[in-house]
Amino acid sequence: MVPLKSVFHWNVLNGPTGFALFGCVLVFPLLFQRFYRRYKRTARAQQSYISESPSINPDTWTDLEFVSKEILSPDTALYHFKLKDEREVLNIPTGHYIEVRVVLDGSEKIRHYTPVNPTENVGRLDLIVKTYVLGQVSKYFTQLKSGDKVSFKGPMGEFIYEDAKATQMGLVAGGSGITPILQVLNEYMRHPDSLQKVSLIYLNETIDDILWKEELDSMAERLPQFDVHYVLHYPPSKEDSTCGGKDWNGDVGLITKKQMEQYLPESSDDHRLLICGPPAMTNLVLSHARGLGWNSGMQKSHGDCKVFVF
Ligand SMILES: Cc1cc2nc3c(=O)[nH]c(=O)nc-3n(C[C@H](O)[C@H](O)[C@H](O)COP(=O)(O)OP(=O)(O)OC[C@H]3O[C@@H](n4cnc5c(N)ncnc54)[C@H](O)[C@@H]3O)c2cc1C
Repeated sequence: MVPLKSVFHWNVLNGPTGFALFGCVLVFPLLFQRFYRRYKRTARAQQSYISESPSINPDTWTDLEFVSKEILSPDTALYHFKLKDEREVLNIPTGHYIEVRVVLDGSEKIRHYTPVNPTENVGRLDLIVKTYVLGQVSKYFTQLKSGDKVSFKGPMGEFIYEDAKATQMGLVAGGSGITPILQVLNEYMRHPDSLQKVSLIYLNETIDDILWKEELDSMAERLPQFDVHYVLHYPPSKEDSTCGGKDWNGDVGLITKKQMEQYLPESSDDHRLLICGPPAMTNLVLSHARGLGWNSGMQKSHGDCKVFVF
């Protein structure tokens, strides 16, 4: 056994004993903190409930406290807000959104955002917000400080996941338009055998703008019936470190009719096409869809439409 006195001797500290001691001092609190957090999360999840008077409702504006944010890409972050009760989960149907109201220079601005995993996040509301250079509300989000209050209303929306009994689903997203599509994919992941095929085309400006790429890629690896195709306006060059010295192997430019024909399920009574992105992208995709025989589809969709625009 190493005598206590020599434990504090530099030579011993410098050797394997010191290394082990140093490791324990450093690693143990980290491990403890990690397990404790996980334990608390599991305990809260087990006691989670849907409130009869939820933190957000469709009729009145409610203020929620901003807690923190995580940067996802150069212009996009995940914002966390605190619900009224730390065990509460929101009952927000797949593909539905909430309204945010802010007052800027004395004038009221209302915008829509799609909560991330609302039925699984216990005690908090998470929003992914992409900031536009000239965007008023999206820029306001970037300036939020812990403790600030933001007004919310909802949920709202027309989309009904269960209503369109599809066998295959085509998804098209642009930029932050991935948020309702992620909700749909989450729902699908709960019952992956419910659909024979799900294909996503995801359009962005640059590789850094692609949100949830790792998760989408790993989902595509795990599930043979799911695939994802990226389209970039400005693809990275071979020299670009984000591409790991390889050529960009996705598509380039805008979404084309050929890509939709190649990657997405064909138009059929049993298939569904869901679209979410900026208006210009949506109009282009709708016009390609009509050319491919999808005979419905408009900017304002109903819950059970075969072609649904969020
Ligand atoms: C149902 C629904 C759900 C949505 N969910 C989300 C979400 O989860 N996350 C999210 O980030 N956004 C989401 N949006 C978009 C969001 O509601 C706002 O439109 C967006 O944040 C821009 O608002 P703003 O006030 O910053 O920009 P505004 O002040 O309204 O626009 C100013 C300028 O910003 C630029 N701009 C604004 N919107 C776009 C755009 N879509 N594409 C390209 N340039 C644009 C343009 O230059 C525009 O002239 C959703 C929209 C809808 C309809």
